[in-house]
Order: sequence, then structure tokens, then C-alpha cells
Amino acid sequence: MSRINGFVGRRDFLKFASVVGVAATTFSNRFWSTQQIAVADIHPVNPNSISPNEAIKRLLDGNQRFIHQKRQYPDQSLEHLRLVAKAQYPFAAILGCADSRVAAEIVFDQGLGDLFVVRVAGNVVSDTVIGSLEYSTTVLGSQLIMVLGHTRCGAVAEAIKNEPLPGRIGLIIEGIKPALAKIKFTTSDLTEDAVIANIQYQTEKLQESSTILAGLLREGKLKIIGACYDIDTGKVNIIT
Ligand SMILES: [Zn+2]
Repeated sequence: MSRINGFVGRRDFLKFASVVGVAATTFSNRFWSTQQIAVADIHPVNPNSISPNEAIKRLLDGNQRFIHQKRQYPDQSLEHLRLVAKAQYPFAAILGCADSRVAAEIVFDQGLGDLFVVRVAGNVVSDTVIGSLEYSTTVLGSQLIMVLGHTRCGAVAEAIKNEPLPGRIGLIIEGIKPALAKIKFTTSDLTEDAVIANIQYQTEKLQESSTILAGLLREGKLKIIGACYDIDTGKVNIIT
């Protein structure tokens, strides 16, 4: 049974429960408590079991390498591909905007299996986004969720305009509008202030909308932070 940052993978848990169930019909409880330890011991330890603060540092260090054109392209070899094909242990989850200029693995200089990335225009929190992030933390063991907005976000700009939009684009904008009521007007640029407000709003919504995430936050097994990517410089700034 693989233990991931104190949690148990669902598939492994079911497999484990099945093994124990069959075993209990044949052997004594004492024997199986011994077997339980043996099964747990043969599985590999999570190589990315790092604290939330270490995860933040790993991301920001990678971003510094990206900015200064010193990327190391870690975890991108064929050998690593084969390694993570067996199991994934992303050290951080990112809720980012779908904008083509904000690719998390590139701007943080990370590789395969390092980041669990959920991307949607305007980095808007929804039920499916929450479910994905619950999976990344509870099952895969990520101890950090970063909500990553970016400067000159088109989705945020559309929310400010507040004009009718075709198809289902308006659904995205509806998810951003509540953030506009919380703009703090700290710069002379309304869109940039709205981008920051949206990052803060989506971060708070994530913290408040999931009992699973709230539980992990209480136990100190998770941090949820907001950050803003500057599309002109490539720099990621922590917002909240
Ligand atoms: Zn955007």
C-alpha cells in the first residue's frame, strides 16, 4: 500500500482492503497485522513528500531559473518518463489560467510528474476544479495549491467590460464577476487590480468551498496560495 504524505491512494486502498478481506477468512488477525506492515514496507516512499513551504521554494527557484534563462529542464528525460509512468507524486498543484503564455511547467522549470495542473480561463474555481484539486491533494499527496493568475488576463478584462458574450464564454465571466466587487485599486490600471482581486477571490473560494481541503489546511498538510505571473517579465509574484 503506498502511503502518500500521510494519505492512502484510493486505488491502493481498495486493493489493500480486498487483500485484507480475503486474508481475514483464512488466517488469524495477528498474522494479518504482520502482513499489513510487510505490504506497506515494500512500496516506494513518495519522493516528492515535501512541505508546503518547500514546495513554494521549489516553484520560485524554478521561476528564477526561467527568468534568467538558466532552465535545467528537470525530469524530462525518457528515463524519468518511464519512472513516473508507474506512479505520480506531484509536489504541487496549480490552478492556472488557460492563457497560452502561462504554461506552468515552463515558467516554473519543472518536468513530468512534478505539477498537477488545472487550467481554465480566468483561473476560475468550479466544482470540477475543486474535485481535481481534492484529488491532487488527498490521493496524490500534493501539499501546495497555487492559484496562478496573470497580468493582462483576457477573461478578467471581459468581466470588467460586462458585455454579452457568445456561447458559454459568459459562464467563465460569471465566475469572475464577484471578484470585481473586491478590487482594491492599488495601481492606476483597473485590469491589473482586477487580476489581483480575482486571484484573491478564487483562492478564498477554494479555501472555503471544500471540506476536504479545509481539513487538510487545518491539519497543516496543505497550503493554498495566490500568485500572479507577469507576462512581460516571466516573474511569478506571491499575492496571498
Ligand atoms: Zn488569463
